[in-house]
Amino acid sequence: VVYGIFCMFVGDHLSGVQHVIMVLSGKGGVGKSTVATQIALGLRHEGKRVGLLDVDLCGPSIPRMFNLDHQDIHQCPEGWLPVYVDKDQKLAIMSISFLLENQNDAIVWRGPKKTAMIKQFLSDVVWKDLDYLVIDTPPGTSDEHISVVENLKSYNPDGAILVTTPQAVAVGDVRREITFCKKTHVPVIGIIENMSGFVCPNCSECTNVFSKGGGEALAKEFHVPFLGHIPLDPKLTQCLDEGKNFMEHYDKSPTLHAIEKVINTLVR
Ligand code: ADP
Repeated sequence: VVYGIFCMFVGDHLSGVQHVIMVLSGKGGVGKSTVATQIALGLRHEGKRVGLLDVDLCGPSIPRMFNLDHQDIHQCPEGWLPVYVDKDQKLAIMSISFLLENQNDAIVWRGPKKTAMIKQFLSDVVWKDLDYLVIDTPPGTSDEHISVVENLKSYNPDGAILVTTPQAVAVGDVRREITFCKKTHVPVIGIIENMSGFVCPNCSECTNVFSKGGGEALAKEFHVPFLGHIPLDPKLTQCLDEGKNFMEHYDKSPTLHAIEKVINTLVR
């Protein structure tokens, strides 16, 4: 009964969602949105119905990565309709970016307004039936994260994927993310070490130009799963900049192989 009242209150568009995955990182620029995007595309590639919710209110980058940043959101009697990436409507996106009149507008909001917006994203978006909802969060652990966790409580989210780069500074910040997950009882699905090695654009060989293994060592230290190393790949950057689907363009790269490994772990 309590659950029913809660659903009536916040809207019940998440009841048709099978799995909810949050993507977190300790700091900005480590590739959190990139990983969220590739996970959503990878799951879609596996034939799943996927939603990708961008709750990075101050720095939304998901629409740009799909070349969809000039799309508008439409309203129907049930709520907001997300923007679909594909014609068969199996990959849906929602972002604050779609609600801005001008893409260059800055969101200068205090905590309560952000909290209200996230609550609305989680209650008013008409996702329909989804196999996976992937939530891209801002870096760190802020109001947005607490709001997502609180609003998802009754839906038993699968947990969080933590993204780091191999360097000690970024890895150190992920420790705080693990603590956040423990305190809020969000299971850690695993750690991904992004920008781990460099893929040569000519021969596709992967070289460790920077340090490697920091994320993997952290996973061991905290006894959480390690989901893999995704290399720094100029072709992935290019695809993201041009809003192209990396998976459809480069089928034998080590980067794609790493992303596929993550997807296999998730759908297993
Ligand atoms: P965050 O969400 O952590 O702030 P982004 O996902 O926006 O980081 O990534 C920052 C930049 O790095 C983007 O330009 C993106 O294209 C690039 N990038 C991220 N991961 C990779 C990668 N594995 N290979 C190549 N470029 C990457």
